[in-house]
Amino acid sequence: MNTYTTANTVAEFRQHLADVHARIAAACAKAGRDPASVRLLPVSKTVPEARIRNAYAAGCHTLGENKVQEAHRKWQAMADLPDLKWAVIGHLQTNKAKLVAEFASEFQALDSLRVATALDKHLQALGRSLDVLVQVNTSNEASKFGLPPDAVEAFVKQLPAFSSLRVRGLMTLASFSDDAAKVRPCFVRLRELRERLRQSAPAGIAMDELSMGMSGDYALAVEEGSTIVRVGQAIFGARKVPDSAYWPGTADHG
Ligand SMILES: *Cc1c(COP(=O)(O)O)cnc(C)c1O
Repeated sequence: MNTYTTANTVAEFRQHLADVHARIAAACAKAGRDPASVRLLPVSKTVPEARIRNAYAAGCHTLGENKVQEAHRKWQAMADLPDLKWAVIGHLQTNKAKLVAEFASEFQALDSLRVATALDKHLQALGRSLDVLVQVNTSNEASKFGLPPDAVEAFVKQLPAFSSLRVRGLMTLASFSDDAAKVRPCFVRLRELRERLRQSAPAGIAMDELSMGMSGDYALAVEEGSTIVRVGQAIFGARKVPDSAYWPGTADHG
């Protein structure tokens, strides 16, 4: 078990957000970075609507969700909240691309041309566009989604064909480990890949964003250049649902 405490009230959410922002600032200071260059994306998967509304009141106006149907349901339930945006951060099957096209403001787990094709088709029909990140498997674990690093350059070259997808950069999940010596190389790999792609990416494909770091490793990720940290438990509290429900094939790393 981990020690993440649950936030229920607006005041408790404010405190947790302040704590996370302080750790981001400390990691930035260590790395000589501007804290304004790191975006905190709160991840609200499994969290019920009443608590999400308090998180919103505390300032969480974009929320990350791993599963499309759960996100779509919450989007409908909270359509009354002004400017609340939803980021889909988990693997997508093509048969759910239509849902994502309908409500998401960003999709961080693009890893196949089939999904790009399906998303683009539905987005065009709706007259919408979508910010996307390409998911990369930097840990070399077969259970993880994402493209192998050496396949990303050729993949990215195909993306200008999908005019409703605005490619912004890369996303990864590091190895699940408390050992920085295992986690850090994943973040370094993603940053170095982005530097290479900045030279080779076609016109219109931006390689500015690095979405890496979660509750257990976001300080390390910021030290290594993360521009988006996806933080769930450190804001909302420990999840009872094992992470294997969200990343099939992984053991629960609690
Ligand atoms: C759940 C999730 C996170 C956040 O994990 P926490 O341990 O709650 O911080 C980040 N990224 C993805 C893709 C997730 O599914």
